[in-house]
Amino acid sequence: MARSTTAPSEPLGSLTQPGARSGAACRMCASERVTRISMELTDGTAVDFTHCLECEHRTWAQGEDLLSVEHVLVKAQRRR
Ligand SMILES: [Zn+2]
Repeated sequence: MARSTTAPSEPLGSLTQPGARSGAACRMCASERVTRISMELTDGTAVDFTHCLECEHRTWAQGEDLLSVEHVLVKAQRRR
């Protein structure tokens, strides 16, 4: 008799699962071995940080839009 497993439990803290398919892929080398972290900048903007494990390329995205590193750094700074 075959038991069907439903909804495999996701282990917590496994951000670097190889083969984890969340639509994230490196923009440089198209590798799917990326670490993806959702974070919030100091101005309240929610961004997705993606770090490629293959080529070390890093990207920040706000929704569908890709943000440049300069853009993120400016946003992360407090203007005085
Ligand atoms: Zn890459």
